[in-house]
Amino acid sequence: MTVANGRRFLSIPGPTNVPDEVLAAMHRPAIDIYKGDLVDTTAYCLDSLKRVFRTKGNTYIYAANGHGAWEAALSNVLSRGDKVLVLESGLFATGWGEMADVMGIEVEILPGDIRSAVDPAAVEQRLRQDSAGEIKAVLVVQVDTASSVVNDIPKIRAAIDAAGHGALFMVDAIASLGTMQFEMDMWEIDVAVTGSQKGLMMTPGLSYVAANPRALERHKSAGLVTRYWDWTFRNGELHYQKYCGTPPEHMLFGQAKAFEILLAEGLEAAWQRHAILAAMVQAAVAKWAEAGALEFNITKAAERAGSVTTVVLKDHDPAPLLDLCDEKCGVTLGITIGPLDGNGFRIAHMGHVNAPMVLGTLGVLEAALGVLDIPHAPGGVLAATETLAAALKD
Ligand SMILES: *Cc1c(COP(=O)(O)O)cnc(C)c1O
Repeated sequence: MTVANGRRFLSIPGPTNVPDEVLAAMHRPAIDIYKGDLVDTTAYCLDSLKRVFRTKGNTYIYAANGHGAWEAALSNVLSRGDKVLVLESGLFATGWGEMADVMGIEVEILPGDIRSAVDPAAVEQRLRQDSAGEIKAVLVVQVDTASSVVNDIPKIRAAIDAAGHGALFMVDAIASLGTMQFEMDMWEIDVAVTGSQKGLMMTPGLSYVAANPRALERHKSAGLVTRYWDWTFRNGELHYQKYCGTPPEHMLFGQAKAFEILLAEGLEAAWQRHAILAAMVQAAVAKWAEAGALEFNITKAAERAGSVTTVVLKDHDPAPLLDLCDEKCGVTLGITIGPLDGNGFRIAHMGHVNAPMVLGTLGVLEAALGVLDIPHAPGGVLAATETLAAALKD
């Protein structure tokens, strides 16, 4: 038997569920790249990015995935031989650091682990030792998609300030923008990067970088600038320069529609929706965990992300569980990656997601845990429902 036929739900932490209106917005012929609609679409997307990043700084659009935005960010503000401090927390910050290393940047990793957030006190302590100012930039992710940790970006900013250090503050918001509070200007973030396919509800293939005046000043003397990523070239008069070539037209139509949907909901309302959905997932997992066979990867509740939840299975192979959910019930959960590879699963609650999608996913998971005799306290779905009801009463 199978009950998978119907609308399938992709509950992996990127790419995420794309709204039908966004898909439909891309279904149109190509148009002129020199004038008219497309120029307006570019202006709308660049401006929407400022609203979503919460910045008055410059925004840039790249026909690239998140790795492209990483390279764009590094190459525009750094020179060969510069040193950066990478704040490890899970997988992605060190991935960004590896890219910097390949580019000839000296990379120092402030060690962290897969189960907790960056410690701002350790950041302050390390930066205080760098009285010569050798560290040119600090790299961190807001949400690490592998571990499902959320780092406290304002506290890390405060740590840099407390050390009196002038390093650029560069933040990866790929798995958090549009899902949790992010305040580029208020938190004095110099460079921020994100991608289209997570909280921004678009297909993969576009990525975005925002730069404040400090970053733009550093850019003037950066030695790693190459033409494709170059902010100066993209700041030029011609529309063609904004993309350093033919604009990815259809993706821009899609992203513009996704911004319309997000901004019509309101950014704060979207953050609140994600917070409620995350609380529902966490309530279910906490209940199931009482039986001792599974647990949250992130040990402290306050450090759990609003967009994705990583669950560790102690003595069971997650593969049959994920297969059952996928093949029989039509919900595709995320595998665990990096050091957690094969140890559990990830539930994404990011982007175009609502209460029935989350409740359906949790219901399927609870049934599958039972079928496979993976010990779990019953009532996870009930706990999620009660969490929802409490939020609805407010
Ligand atoms: C997905 C992700 C990336 C990488 O993005 P790609 O589009 O896969 O290149 C980087 N950082 C974080 C936090 C992510 O979630």
